[in-house]
Amino acid sequence: MAGAPPPDDSSLVVVLLDTSLHFWNAVVRSSSGLQQVLSFLNSLALMNHMNHLVIIASGCNSCEFLYDSLDSDERAGANHQTASEKIVQKLNDFVSRDATQPPKFQPSLLSASLSMALCYIQRALKEKIGPSKPRMLCLQASPDAPHQYIAIMNAIFSAQRSMVPIDACMVGAQHSAFLQQAADITGGTYLMPQQADSLLEYLMTIFTVDLHSRQFIQLPRSAGVDFRASCFCHKRTIDMGYICSVCLSIFCKQHKECSTCGSSFASSGTKRKTPAS
Ligand SMILES: [Zn+2]
Ligand SMILES: [Zn+2]
Repeated sequence: MAGAPPPDDSSLVVVLLDTSLHFWNAVVRSSSGLQQVLSFLNSLALMNHMNHLVIIASGCNSCEFLYDSLDSDERAGANHQTASEKIVQKLNDFVSRDATQPPKFQPSLLSASLSMALCYIQRALKEKIGPSKPRMLCLQASPDAPHQYIAIMNAIFSAQRSMVPIDACMVGAQHSAFLQQAADITGGTYLMPQQADSLLEYLMTIFTVDLHSRQFIQLPRSAGVDFRASCFCHKRTIDMGYICSVCLSIFCKQHKECSTCGSSFASSGTKRKTPAS
């Protein structure tokens, strides 16, 4: 077809949208915040008619697919609703189902939505649904949840192995070490906008750039990445710790046995030795 864009430029973009109170406070309640996010999501679909956009809501108690631009309903324009109207309606339904009573400032389930996104991308690639260049974007405001550390790191390494970059836009009050590491390890871009009012500008100039065009464009590099790990025993962020030499589990204190793989660290009946590391 004349004028068709080269397939290099089309992308499968899976957006993980934080729906916790943190996100609500940071973005949705600010002036036209939700509108800015919706305009960006629309732009992703409009940049290239072959783009495939999937939105997953990361709630505090559950995660759900909100939108898939390849759904037959979305393509047929059922009920004459625009994509934005459908997303807002599904978002409202999801938040009312997911919300706790009374509302609490819990972090969202990023680990679960990352896993859902990875599964979806694997299926899309295997079944050759839509474009073959997948990437993820986390629109996040929740602080890091230490109990999700292991699951999130597993998802990050899985994305790295599948060559799926994880981009992250952190609109919360503090940096996310998890998302900094996710972007760094997978070759994505991590950004914390300095001015919340200009969210749309940040999103449009950085996160609409497809993987092919990234070779020619200088995207912002993170000034520093917090590489500290969390211990597997208490899920606390630690500077120094003990590592199981068999399965690489991390502990903040010396243990007699690895709680992950069962390897024994203590030499039985002999004098106590100093730990290996
Ligand atoms: Zn510990
Ligand atoms: Zn172990």
